[in-house]
Amino acid sequence: MRYALSWVSWPGLLIICMLITSYGFVLDMPVVFFNLAYLFLAVSLYALEQFMPHEPVWNEDDGQTFANIAHTLLSKGSVQTLVIFSTAIGLASLVTPMAEPGHGVWPRDWPLWIQVIMGVASAEFGLYWAHRLGHDWYPLWRFHSIHHSVTRLWIINTGRFHFVDSIVSILLGMAILLGLGAPMEVLIWLSAITAFIGMLTHCNIEMRFGPLSWIFNTPGLHRWHHSRDIKEGNKNYGENLVLWDQLFGTYINPSHRPPVNIGINEYMPPGFLQQLAHPFKRRKRLESRPDAAE
Ligand SMILES: [Zn+2]
Ligand SMILES: [Zn+2]
Repeated sequence: MRYALSWVSWPGLLIICMLITSYGFVLDMPVVFFNLAYLFLAVSLYALEQFMPHEPVWNEDDGQTFANIAHTLLSKGSVQTLVIFSTAIGLASLVTPMAEPGHGVWPRDWPLWIQVIMGVASAEFGLYWAHRLGHDWYPLWRFHSIHHSVTRLWIINTGRFHFVDSIVSILLGMAILLGLGAPMEVLIWLSAITAFIGMLTHCNIEMRFGPLSWIFNTPGLHRWHHSRDIKEGNKNYGENLVLWDQLFGTYINPSHRPPVNIGINEYMPPGFLQQLAHPFKRRKRLESRPDAAE
């Protein structure tokens, strides 16, 4: 039973969530149905985390649940605010439904599913570089380290990002799609797929992926990304796909199990508000991130 579930749960849950969202498009209520699918995914993953955890010790409380949820809400809130202000700064006029003419070179007359694949792959280029810069460029690592400071992976730290980190990735991911003139339908699908794959990526469930890990950012790959060893952690930057990791040489998929002892080798305050302020504090680079000296 567990063995069969370990193979089917990742693709099965993703397909069910996509079907629920598609049905929402048919009924012209994509946002409502996306939220239903998201809730279904959260409940299913939570149950599976109890039933067949990848690392049972990761099911123990680390005292970060409140901070995880608070970062998630603040990040979502700031992105929503950005969407609202996008009208004021003229960005919203770039986003039009498929039926209306766009501004860029995007092939709006192609089948929607092909456009969605193109949208995910091209946005991924911006998301990849936003994430890679978050590791390689110290001013951004100050923000991104909040995501990496957790010592266990489970669905509740999916959205644990400093809100500045979230805004940088959204801007870089969306800039490409807006520049190319992708229609609103593609943006909605991209947001839904990113939300589903993001929660799957962080789940603490014993799953098997096989060739799926050659294409998608699976939990198996993302656990290496949370390694304390930067030779492993500065790899697998993809958000949904690992296409750009494969092309730029940052893809790893070792055959042995990833480390249980994950996190960062530097101080991170335990409280939510201190974590929000932490990136703005003055500190010396090599003292605070000893592994960067290697
Ligand atoms: Zn990262
Ligand atoms: Zn992560």
